[in-house]
Amino acid sequence: MYQIEVDPHTHSVISLHAYSTVEECARHAAERGLRGIAVTDHCSHTLSQRENSIEAISNQRILPDEMYGVRVWKGVEIDIVDYDGHLAFEQTPDKFRPELTGAQVLLPSRSVVIASVHTPLDRDPGTVEQNTRMYCRALENPWVNILGHSGRSGHPYELGPVLETAKRLHKMIEINNASLGAYGGRSASACLAIATACRDMGVLITVSSDAHSSFQVGGFENAAAMLESIHFPQELIANRTVESFERALAESRAQS
Ligand SMILES: [Zn+2]
Ligand SMILES: [Zn+2]
Repeated sequence: MYQIEVDPHTHSVISLHAYSTVEECARHAAERGLRGIAVTDHCSHTLSQRENSIEAISNQRILPDEMYGVRVWKGVEIDIVDYDGHLAFEQTPDKFRPELTGAQVLLPSRSVVIASVHTPLDRDPGTVEQNTRMYCRALENPWVNILGHSGRSGHPYELGPVLETAKRLHKMIEINNASLGAYGGRSASACLAIATACRDMGVLITVSSDAHSSFQVGGFENAAAMLESIHFPQELIANRTVESFERALAESRAQS
């Protein structure tokens, strides 16, 4: 069994389709013996609070950095919005500081930035070449730490170039527990291929619950079972301890 102290991908009511407060998520994390969670609500033009994303998420600054003995990182899960790997609000002037984009206002204040694809871009799965380039470009964004649930987003890509980019820039590839459970396991084979390639290439991963309610926080069972089946090394799990996650975050920013 893996020891995993941090859940690096959780959602609060700020995501609108999630059902717990940050405080409830932290309390549940403490009860499950976790030492840290990252609150990574959606920043998106299509999901969640949409045009209010920037101020809704930025105001997490008023929350304490620790609750119930659990470290709380203020993060975001931001949409990748096109095949150039642009992120949500990267091309939209900020409402209050129009000399900057929304992404320029939000991202520097985040401790954890996960970049993910949600609604299929233009309802089009894209070509492998387009998707490979998209994910490489998103990883090259200096503010991005983690590529989120790329096994279930419906955009197949070439593992070699994407994982080489992650390794070169010390970025993390997410293995998302919900991709192997709540989504019916239909992305299981893609997730297994990604994890196996990360193991073989020595690429850091995160193991996350993607909790949309406090009851899911720290739920890693599906992902852990899959990783154990391929003897994935514990030392490549960036969020195994608070300290290893802190170190991985710092390195992923420094290299960009
Ligand atoms: Zn997501
Ligand atoms: Zn999520």
